[in-house]
Amino acid sequence: MNIMKFGGTSVGSPERIKKVAELICRENRPFVVLSAMSGTTNTLLEVAGYLLNRNQEGAIDTLTSLEAKYEGVVSRLYGTDAAREKAGQYVKDVLDYLKTFTKKLFTSTQEKILVAQGELLSTHLMYFYLEEKGVKVVLLPALDFMKLNQQGEPDSDFISSSLAPLVAGHPEAEVFLTQGFICKNAQDEIDNLQRGGSDYTASLVGAALNAEEIQIWTDIDGMHNVDPRVVRDSRPVRHLQFEEAAELAYFGAKILHPTCIQPAKFANIPVRLLNTMNPDAEGTLIDNNPDHGVIKAVAAKDNIVAIKIKSSRMLLAHGFLRRVFEIFESYRTPIDMICTSEVGVSMTIDDTTHLSSIIHDLKRYGTVSVDLDMCIVCVVGDMEWENVGFESRVLDAMKDIPVRMISYGGSNYNISFLLKEEDKKRAMEALRRNLFEKC
Ligand code: ADP
Ligand code: ASP
Ligand code: MG
Repeated sequence: MNIMKFGGTSVGSPERIKKVAELICRENRPFVVLSAMSGTTNTLLEVAGYLLNRNQEGAIDTLTSLEAKYEGVVSRLYGTDAAREKAGQYVKDVLDYLKTFTKKLFTSTQEKILVAQGELLSTHLMYFYLEEKGVKVVLLPALDFMKLNQQGEPDSDFISSSLAPLVAGHPEAEVFLTQGFICKNAQDEIDNLQRGGSDYTASLVGAALNAEEIQIWTDIDGMHNVDPRVVRDSRPVRHLQFEEAAELAYFGAKILHPTCIQPAKFANIPVRLLNTMNPDAEGTLIDNNPDHGVIKAVAAKDNIVAIKIKSSRMLLAHGFLRRVFEIFESYRTPIDMICTSEVGVSMTIDDTTHLSSIIHDLKRYGTVSVDLDMCIVCVVGDMEWENVGFESRVLDAMKDIPVRMISYGGSNYNISFLLKEEDKKRAMEALRRNLFEKC
């Protein structure tokens, strides 16, 4: 069985939904995961924002235009009155329910329920469409099997043990369909897997069902060697090892959510990135096989803050780094990059929620300085230390760019640079020329 996950743009209009239905019907008994139609999750969060600020009018206006948008979709998607009526009624019920939120106290539990409606809407619209086409489709509610544990992590045992019987109970099904992103938490309330989390649903479902392949269908033909939003002339990468894909996803390649690599890697299920708008393009295959000595791609992550602590007490001392790390630990703030010298240590973070408290506490151990508006540019590929020559090619590309930190050796898969955000485009262009054009 293959998992087919379609992102927001892939189901962003009635025409796209029809196209996706065609792709689904080409497969043999696929398990389909859908995101919300593009823009819907943002709109629902906007509504939540109004309700949290007690602006009922803003919430109602936004819900009214959302309803009009979905009524338009319903009127263009279906060919029969029966299907239009069923889908129209579903949309009306959802929107009527959401409007009741404007009359009650709005809590974070309601916010999660509100945000979950995007995926519920898209899967029901697709369900009614496939049904109208005569396809034997089974809609399995993600809320019946996608569950978080007490630590807020997906409970893979629960997911496998609940999903397998649900699938086995429908031998007649030609297509299984479910919602990406949404789940239940340990308290059995509606929750989600964070923004972009439908990719995570697809890989958790793939692992739970021991799928042959997990296909992530989006609006571009695979992982490109540089971020196409920043640099022109990017090219798709045909093959990535899981670790390489994880580094790229974590360091800003939005095409893939970083969390989705781990379940697929552990279950050894290949992930394929494919383009809904160009379904015959080869895309990118991600699996456990290495390509020796090849640099694959460059990604970049914005909104990075660099923190430096200088201290003569670090000289020949032990326990200094532990004390520094404990401060970050106490504020549950992850460190991305780290560089040390005998008298100082520089680190980067992207979660600035507790920045001022962290700086305050670090001042106990040395002189602290902070650089804002930085970015990490990350070069990814097989960079095992015994390979020679790749460092000079990478560094040569950076010769005109002021670099604040360099990190290599943490894994065999990346060299990362910390630069000013304003230098990102220049750095990525230079890396593209040096690494991918010349060879
Ligand atoms: P979906 O809605 O299907 O989940 P996303 O918007 O999350 O799609 O991801 C696809 C987008 O990722 C592309 O349109 C592209 O702009 C962006 N992107 C960023 N970096 C890369 C990259 N290295 N390769 C391909 N796409 C990338
Ligand atoms: N709809 C959710 C979002 O916009 C989840 C997803 O698309 O993956 O973040
Ligand atoms: Mg996405």
